[in-house]
Amino acid sequence: TFKAILVSRDEDKKQSVAVKDLTEADLMEGDVTVAVEATTVNYKDGLAITGKAPVVRRWPLVPGIDFAGTVTASDHPDWRRGDKVILNGWGVGETHYGAYSERARVKGDWLVPLPEGMSAHDAMAVGTAGYTAMLCVMALERHGIAPDRGPVVVTGAAGGVGSVAVAILSKLGYHVVASTGREAEKAYLTDLGAAEVIARDELTGPVKPLAKERWAGGVDAVGSTTLANVLSMTAYGGAVAACGLAGGMDLPSSVAPFILRGVSLLGIDSVMAPKEVRLEAWRRIATDLDVAKLKALSTTIGFDGILDAARAIVDGKIRGRVVVDME
Ligand code: NAP
Repeated sequence: TFKAILVSRDEDKKQSVAVKDLTEADLMEGDVTVAVEATTVNYKDGLAITGKAPVVRRWPLVPGIDFAGTVTASDHPDWRRGDKVILNGWGVGETHYGAYSERARVKGDWLVPLPEGMSAHDAMAVGTAGYTAMLCVMALERHGIAPDRGPVVVTGAAGGVGSVAVAILSKLGYHVVASTGREAEKAYLTDLGAAEVIARDELTGPVKPLAKERWAGGVDAVGSTTLANVLSMTAYGGAVAACGLAGGMDLPSSVAPFILRGVSLLGIDSVMAPKEVRLEAWRRIATDLDVAKLKALSTTIGFDGILDAARAIVDGKIRGRVVVDME
């Protein structure tokens, strides 16, 4: 048997969570079985465990949207026992038994190889939040945003997506404006490479159709009024990659930034991103994210710490990334 976290619902749809002993026969269908070595706590995992938003769509369910580990059995032509792999998304931890388990069985098509020279622990210090930050940066680049175009803003900067975005963008040479609600994290963000740290409040006030142009682009993990203000402050021809909703699902914006300044809003989804895009993102992470910064932005917990971290992340209390070492 092995340990796993299981979320369940009773007849009144009241959610509960418990650590259970499972066997491989309890795992869902799939052609590759993986010994999970490291996983992480993302915002979505916090939503799944607390039940704060309907992330879990199959009951009972093992949550956990990402893991790194070693293949123990495979019927998939690409994978053999002993291969080191990463999984992000594809509904794992939402509709398919996920990462908070010592064993996971998934479709081999969902896996990517652990990049050369990267440990399972480091891959999960990046995790889905960091891989999504990379997808955001790649989208800005595809749109022609480059360091010489001007500053870029990162919202929710002290969170997981935000911290990795700050570290990558600064390494690429951007002047990074980090927006945070946590003044105490100013030094942390400066150390990650932020050139300026601004208060979250500057982006939560009333939204003007157009405001003073402050940046050429942005990575937004917050949504709602924050994203609306970021758009109205984006310079002519700029672009903002939107990936998150930590501040709300709504977008109280107007068409003004789009039709008067040619600003683009770039939507980012990591869950169903095609394999080629994932491979490119992980290749870029291996080259464009400093290992020293990755260490600075991540903390490590054990399996027993997952539930507390899940509750803390939805309260906006986690700094950077949380890695779970399964051993
Ligand atoms: P996280 O570590 O909790 O980061 C979110 C950050 O947002 C917080 O640290 C906080 O930063 C800020 N924040 C929290 N509540 C806020 C509020 N009410 N108003 C304004 N700012 C607030 O979570 P994460 O794992 O990085 O994920 C960030 C977001 O991206 C989540 O919404 C997640 O669901 C989304 N996401 C989407 C994808 C995708 O595929 N599209 C993939 C990964 C993550 P400060 O304290 O610095 O202000």
